[in-house]
Amino acid sequence: MEARIGSTVLRLVVGDITQQETEAIVNAANSSLMGGGGVDGAIHRAGGPRILEECKKIVAEIGSLPTGQAVITTGGNLKARYVIHTVGPVWSGGNRGEDELLRSAYRSSLSLAKEKGIRTLSFPSISTGAYRFPIERAAVIALQTVRDFIKEHGFFEEVRFVLFRQEDYEAYRRAWEKICAQEG
Ligand code: ADP
Repeated sequence: MEARIGSTVLRLVVGDITQQETEAIVNAANSSLMGGGGVDGAIHRAGGPRILEECKKIVAEIGSLPTGQAVITTGGNLKARYVIHTVGPVWSGGNRGEDELLRSAYRSSLSLAKEKGIRTLSFPSISTGAYRFPIERAAVIALQTVRDFIKEHGFFEEVRFVLFRQEDYEAYRRAWEKICAQEG
């Protein structure tokens, strides 16, 4: 699926984020920045050891990365030149600020990309794997946050969501339709 927001293309695809050729890809990391399972593990495996080396330097400087914030490293051996690491919230029922923290993870990643002059960017579905954020709700937040950021700042050529499973793609597609319908 492809949509336009001003001069930016918003694209939803089914695929593996480690294979994307956008200038940067976003990692759904954890606060330790030491790698993990899911998309985090896949990015470190595909990108090689330089990514972890830079993560270790960042942790030595700033300590662990708070939920909702983002940092940037090399893309190592990936096609993408950079990896933006952000930490989404762990779902714990929905009344512990999870929505706002998820919004913040997307916004921080977009701000950092813009600051670095990165015009094409791929996101995974942050928090909807091991962190158990319900995907229907996460998808609306993800897409609304990206749309609002692009509307406010323009700048990007393309922002892509790379969904690992067909059913995740369908959830994002439905969320986008819902957002567009609400706009009228
Ligand atoms: P979190 O801890 O933020 O929930 P996970 O990595 O467990 O992060 O899951 C986030 C999403 O990333 C899930 O929807 C999962 O299916 C997806 N995912 C896992 N591997 C990849 C990959 N290689 N490319 C894109 N998405 C992936």
